[in-house]
Amino acid sequence: MAQKPLRLLACGDVEGKFDALFNRVRAIQKKSGNFDLLLCVGNFFGSTPDAEWEEYKTGVKKAPIQTYVLGANNQETVKYFQDVDGCELAENITYLGRKGVFTGSSGLQIVYLSGTESLNEPVPGYSFSPKDVSSLRTMLCSTPQFKGVDILLTSPWPKYVGNFGNSSGEVDTKKCGSALISSLATGLKPRYHFAALEKTYYERLPYRNHIVLQENAQHATRFIALANVGNPEKKKYLYAFSIVPMKLMDAAELVKQPPDVTENPYRKSGKEASTGKQTPASEEESACQFFFDLNEKQGRKRSSTGRDSKSSPYPKQPRKPPQPPGPCWFCLASPEVEKHLVVNIGTHCYLALAKGGLSDDHVLILPIGHYQSVVELSAEVVEEVEKYKATLRRFFRSRGKRCVLFERNYKSHHLQLQVIPVPLSSCATDDIKDAFITQAQEQQIELLEIPEHSDIKQIAQPGAAYFYVELDTGEKLFHRIKKNFPLQFGREVLASEAILNIPDKSDWRKCQISKEEEETLARRFRKDFEPFDFTVDDD
Ligand SMILES: [Zn+2]
Repeated sequence: MAQKPLRLLACGDVEGKFDALFNRVRAIQKKSGNFDLLLCVGNFFGSTPDAEWEEYKTGVKKAPIQTYVLGANNQETVKYFQDVDGCELAENITYLGRKGVFTGSSGLQIVYLSGTESLNEPVPGYSFSPKDVSSLRTMLCSTPQFKGVDILLTSPWPKYVGNFGNSSGEVDTKKCGSALISSLATGLKPRYHFAALEKTYYERLPYRNHIVLQENAQHATRFIALANVGNPEKKKYLYAFSIVPMKLMDAAELVKQPPDVTENPYRKSGKEASTGKQTPASEEESACQFFFDLNEKQGRKRSSTGRDSKSSPYPKQPRKPPQPPGPCWFCLASPEVEKHLVVNIGTHCYLALAKGGLSDDHVLILPIGHYQSVVELSAEVVEEVEKYKATLRRFFRSRGKRCVLFERNYKSHHLQLQVIPVPLSSCATDDIKDAFITQAQEQQIELLEIPEHSDIKQIAQPGAAYFYVELDTGEKLFHRIKKNFPLQFGREVLASEAILNIPDKSDWRKCQISKEEEETLARRFRKDFEPFDFTVDDD
């Protein structure tokens, strides 16, 4: 379905600086075309006199874009939000309401929750209670088809959002924010979650909504906290993004994992929240409206997007991992991946047991995104590949083995760095090197010795086929493939008498075992590898 994305803007605390905000929006739209909606989280009104607001309220001035705002977060501004179910505050400026779902004519689903957390009943007019949160959760998540929502708008940050993520700066997410919002985000699985009130900008690395190895892949969530309008430090308060409503997206497209996706920050608190500490949802609750349809006549202008790369207001799109042209057995997010073989997952790479491996602990280092070879990897991915290599060397060394690595960038679409442990007692590194050189000569394969620590990138041209083997000393033997390279070469040499002496195992297809056996091996590997696992957050 070729759906043109909606172009949205999200804004942090406006605090009554309407002119500053709308002038900024006008400038952006002039430069790069119109946006469809502006969503404001945090304090829309300030505690200062409202001369500016009067002009909007009376129609002297007008917001240049359809603007949706959340309600009050303090007693002083409750007066502006007369109708708890939401209402028009001025032309083009609409209060969404205390809580509910806004479904645009495009199918975009936006869940909103106004105010700050309050655990004591009765809750003040600027707060939400555990009951509010559980009724939203129940209302949305109880349908069997529920997958998540496009956008969640809250004013406070969710507590713990910084767990497993990049630094949230001065904000300590273990202390600040609302645990109820964390629980809401856990249940709703928004693709974007915006919040404010902390006077700072924080874009968290996207996080997963599924449990790896236990659940099917689901879309990731991006949490973005925005600063206040016109702050002197020039922290980002306006965020531009484009989005296709999830209900119009292809399932495979939706669940593609960004390369920098992290663990879910609320995993623990989410569990606690669901074990019954919450007030049960009251379904008959009538004080909230759930469906607020944006009717067609509100004129969603699907602007002709004059998108100019230099002056684009778009934030740098969080880098997406390269996507495969077709089904791929090795892209972690792809349904073809044999998840039960995955033994460890990092930020950019993962480890999986080799199918039909030469030994029970023959593993592959694979990039999570779709990269054909090491030559194509970005610096951060290379860094993690190196980390995995070093860790595996230490791991196998502790088990009396040395590692041999090889990569064949030929008739392969997704980088697989093969890591084969060889018992220290069976041969020396030089024996391994000799075996490769001798057997290459026999097959008229020219293996070049390349300097230790040298980069394959400097030797292989992008797109060119090659094979290389890396010994535990860091020495590499490289072959530029012209044509007809024996696909099993690396395995054959390792399986040969000179090294592992298991010649009948040189063909992986003959080494296949049952899925149950594979599961057992994977479980064992995960357990053994645990003390070496650098991906665990020891928080
Ligand atoms: Zn792939």
